[in-house]
Amino acid sequence: MNKYYIFITGGVVSSLGKGITAGSLGSILEERKLKTTIIKLDPYINVDPGTISPVQHGEVFVTNDGAETDLDLGHYERFIKNKMTSLNNFTTGSVYSEVLKKERRGDYLGATIQIIPHITDVIKNRIIKLSRKNDITIVEIGGTVGDIESLPFLEAIRQIAIDVNKKNVLYIHLTLLPYISTTKEIKTKPTQHSVKELLSIGIQPDILICRSEKKISENERKKIALFCNVKKKAVISLIDLDSIYKIPKLLQLQGLDDYICKYFNLKVPIADLSSWDKVISEENQSSEIIKIGIIGKYTELPDAYKSVIEAIKHGGLKNKTKIIIKLINSKKIIHYKYNKILKELDGILIPGGFGNRGIEGMILSIRYARENKIPYLGICLGMQLAIIEYTRNVVGIKSANSTEFQPNCKYPIIALIKKWDKKRKKNYKKNNLGGTMRLGAHVCIIKKNSLTYKMYKSKKISERHRHRYEVNNSLLNKTEKLGLIVSGRSKYKNLVEIIELFNHPWFIGCQFHPEFNSSPRKGHPLFEGFIKAAKIYKKNFS
Ligand code: GLN
Repeated sequence: MNKYYIFITGGVVSSLGKGITAGSLGSILEERKLKTTIIKLDPYINVDPGTISPVQHGEVFVTNDGAETDLDLGHYERFIKNKMTSLNNFTTGSVYSEVLKKERRGDYLGATIQIIPHITDVIKNRIIKLSRKNDITIVEIGGTVGDIESLPFLEAIRQIAIDVNKKNVLYIHLTLLPYISTTKEIKTKPTQHSVKELLSIGIQPDILICRSEKKISENERKKIALFCNVKKKAVISLIDLDSIYKIPKLLQLQGLDDYICKYFNLKVPIADLSSWDKVISEENQSSEIIKIGIIGKYTELPDAYKSVIEAIKHGGLKNKTKIIIKLINSKKIIHYKYNKILKELDGILIPGGFGNRGIEGMILSIRYARENKIPYLGICLGMQLAIIEYTRNVVGIKSANSTEFQPNCKYPIIALIKKWDKKRKKNYKKNNLGGTMRLGAHVCIIKKNSLTYKMYKSKKISERHRHRYEVNNSLLNKTEKLGLIVSGRSKYKNLVEIIELFNHPWFIGCQFHPEFNSSPRKGHPLFEGFIKAAKIYKKNFS
């Protein structure tokens, strides 16, 4: 089968939901039995988002093969079944880095290195490489048309249409149609300008997806088609919806996938979107409301916890429950008894995080959850802190800590473990923060007769990691004796992966990030169980 490419650019303003649109379109095409993948091109200079603060750029999404990627890849995986890999996201920084390495090696044989063709060639090669294993490759270009940074990417996607033949390439432009409430009109001019900008770099969009508050009329559709030089059928309206899961259906109803399949001349079955209908019906059936608190340090930007927030919502869907998620800055937690902020919660979740700030507030919250039997889910840092809290307050070893927060602490129950693989150690020595983490999917073996086993219903699972520190097995004895159960260990190296408490209705901590494996259609056993426990807690105690 031929390889087909769909390029998605954005115009007028940023944050129009290109990632969700790409994911939704990918899902419909996948349901048309086309092997579909999505790639995100990021115009910034960082080699990957691993070193960018989560409050600036949102969460870092980790793929099975251990790549630290843009959060849009999380949207893709929540919409399509095909998994993301390290090939599905790259930045300008990583492209320059490759070109400069080759230049230093002398690979260019004396040529002058330029954006065109050297930078654009690397961009094209990476897209083509990914497309080999797929029928359709959707490429989302980060940023907005008109940005200086994205120009090499736009030039590269312009060239691809010549390299592979335009009939195998479609350009979709996602724009905004602002609504002026005083005159009650939708304005098309910014879209016209944005298309003009694209045209000036040699790209004529084939399809326009228009975000708008209100439905666009036939007249407006006609006008946009005429002024932007696209067919009327190729003007798709994307109105604001109460649920993102309705987008695949909305796009299908307007014939977007039909238009694409006809353009590529593909004879494929019609997409069966009943799995999305089911998600929407789960959403509609949710009547009960519970409150879950995420207690962390990056709370000023909800995107910093994007996958966690989504996974909690998926847990809600599977339990037919609406969830109010409270993002709570752990600095505000200063007492574990009579805590007004924590008192109103039906479940407490401490997500991943790095560094010292706000740690004590998280430990107080864990103590509150443990003593008051509130369901608790600790993710990565949230698990490490649960062990520290238990060792300090139940076992009575007050000096228990992580060497991340206190490098010379007396009782380093969380620490950098010496027997780690050589590569990680070498990178530490070089003071190189990239490459010092346990990243990606690892197999974990679950203890039978544990709460964790009840959740997963399986002895062997695979989940994704992103952390430097590990539980110090050599100091765990006393803590285990007093009721903290290690319910999962890594298949290799015997590292602690999951803990739970024996005398608590639902208290689980995991060293990995289960949120990266949760999707609206499938949910995730830990989040499903956590929300179920929170529902029971609410019924019994409030
Ligand atoms: N800071 C901790 C570590 O590096 C936890 C990381 C995380 O929560 N992702 O091990």
